[in-house]
Amino acid sequence: MRIGTYLTDLFFPYTCPVCHEPLGEEESLCPKCMAQLPRTEQALQRDNSTEVLLQDDPHFRWGGCWLEYEKGSWLQQIMFQAKFGQGNPPLLRQLGQQAAREWVDTGFFDGIDLIMPIPLHPKRFRTRGFNQSEWIAKGLQDVLLLPMNTDNLTRERNNKKQSQSGREERQQIQSGLFAVNHPEELYKKTILIVDDIITTGATVCSAMTAFKKVYGCKIAVFALAKAK
Ligand SMILES: [Zn+2]
Repeated sequence: MRIGTYLTDLFFPYTCPVCHEPLGEEESLCPKCMAQLPRTEQALQRDNSTEVLLQDDPHFRWGGCWLEYEKGSWLQQIMFQAKFGQGNPPLLRQLGQQAAREWVDTGFFDGIDLIMPIPLHPKRFRTRGFNQSEWIAKGLQDVLLLPMNTDNLTRERNNKKQSQSGREERQQIQSGLFAVNHPEELYKKTILIVDDIITTGATVCSAMTAFKKVYGCKIAVFALAKAK
């Protein structure tokens, strides 16, 4: 190891996962890389590609993904690193905060009563140690100051490992995959469901089916990124 590298690591132990420049306090991604994230304009676009995927649910009202990435992009890589292995919950939170700051004036979050992140199955939560969607939601909450609930919506079954099921199967909407345990607490509320990445929309659609028994609720959906 070069001495220069060693000294840099000593004084600035945290570096940006993309460009490896030193990070400031409470940063998990540097401002330069943050500025280069591929934004969508979905906050202001109705009938955007996210809404098209989710529109068949009777409770669904509006939705959007903040970023959009191609397979193999650096954004996909840092999202993967943030979610798996050791994970990087502070990065997910910082991205959530940034998204909220950029979208708050568009009116996208207007009228929301409650934030509900997509839950993991308890078994997966225990092995991973954190729920990635909850950390994104925490970031939104830091800026929007809205209440969050993490125990009313639960995941009843784990998805099969992707390699064990065909593409068709992964895209299927499954009722019974999620459950709302106290529907009476959500009557007539406008709920923001938060997910990390939307690909086919099947997970969010499956979660929305659990709100069937919730009288008069409306659902908006926010995801950090949409995979093309
Ligand atoms: Zn960077």
